[in-house]
Amino acid sequence: VTVPEPGHGEVSIRVTATGVCHTDLVWAGGTFGPGFDFPVVLGHETAGVVEEVGPGVTRVRSGDPVVLSLAHHCGHCFYCESGSPMLCRQRTEGWNRVELRGNPIVQGFGVGGFSTRLVVQAISAIPLPAGVAPEVAAVAGCALATGFGAVTRIAKVEPGSTMAIIGCGGIGLSAVMASRIAGVVDIAVVDPNPDRLALARDLGATHAFDTVSGLLDSVPGDGFDTTLEAAGLVTTMEAAVQAARPGGTIVVVGAPPSDAMIRIPALDFVSTQKRLLGCITGDLRPNVDFARYFKLVQTGQLPLERLISHRLPLAQITEAFDLAARGDGIRTIVTMDAPT
Ligand SMILES: [Zn+2]
Ligand SMILES: [Zn+2]
Repeated sequence: VTVPEPGHGEVSIRVTATGVCHTDLVWAGGTFGPGFDFPVVLGHETAGVVEEVGPGVTRVRSGDPVVLSLAHHCGHCFYCESGSPMLCRQRTEGWNRVELRGNPIVQGFGVGGFSTRLVVQAISAIPLPAGVAPEVAAVAGCALATGFGAVTRIAKVEPGSTMAIIGCGGIGLSAVMASRIAGVVDIAVVDPNPDRLALARDLGATHAFDTVSGLLDSVPGDGFDTTLEAAGLVTTMEAAVQAARPGGTIVVVGAPPSDAMIRIPALDFVSTQKRLLGCITGDLRPNVDFARYFKLVQTGQLPLERLISHRLPLAQITEAFDLAARGDGIRTIVTMDAPT
C-alpha cells in the first residue's frame, strides 16, 4: 500500500495506536453491505503524530500529537453548521487516499488506522493536550465519543434519572462513565461476560445482569428513564424499547447488519409516547467534545485507561481481531512499530 504526500488541506499522520472496534469486525465480516467495500484498511479509533501538513493547513503542525475523528466533515454544510457534523454528507467522500498497485483502496471510516502512516483531511486531526497517552486518545476516538455522546448529546439525561445499558464493550462502559458523571443515580447494565460486569460496577453501574431477561424482570416502576442498546443485536434493541418507561428515551448505538429490522408493537409505542433515537458516533462535535473529554481524563473523572485490556503490535493484528470477536477483554489496542 502506498500513501501519498498530503495534498491541499490534508495532513499525513504517523500512527501510534489504534483500537479494535466491533464495527471493524462487522465490516470485515461483509454484512454492512454496499458502501463498505474491499479491499479496505480498517481501524478508526486512532491516535498519532502529524508528520507533514499539506498546503493551506494551519490548524495543526508537524510533530503535533492528534486523535483522529472517525469521519470527515466539511465544516460548512447544513449538518455541520447545525451542530451534527457526523451527519455531514461529505463524510463518505474523499476518504480514500492510499493506493494499492495504483488503485485507491478504502480507508475504513475515513481513517484506515491499522497502518503506520496515513493521509486524512486536516479537519479530522484534533490536537491532543499534553499528558494524554496515545492509547487513551485512541479509545476516545470511537468508544468514548460514541458512548459518552449517546448519554449526553443524544439522550440528554438528567441528574437523578435512571438508565439501563445493554452491552458492556467499550461503548457501553463509556456510557456507564458518562451516566455517572451526568448524575444518573441508577445505572443497570447487561452483559454475558462477568469480567465486563465487574468493571461496569467499578465504573459506576449500580445493578448488573448477565441476561436481558434478568434486566426485564427487574425493571424499576414503569421502566427506566433512558435505555441504551450497545450490543448491535435486534433482540436487545427490542428489549431496550420494552424496558423504557412511558415517555422514556431509547438510544440505539450498536451496529447491526445492514438488513436487520427492529420490530416494535406499534400501538403500544404510540400510546406510551416513547422516544426511539439513533446514534452515530455520539453526535460528536470533534473540536468541541474531544477537548472536554480530555479535560475529564486529565482530572481523573474519566478513567479511560481501564477500558484497555490488551496491547498488541500491528504484526499481531489477526490475534487482535480474534480477541475482539471472542468478546475477550474490552479494548485491544494495536500499537505501531517505530518508523524506520
Ligand atoms: Zn468504532
Ligand atoms: Zn458538512
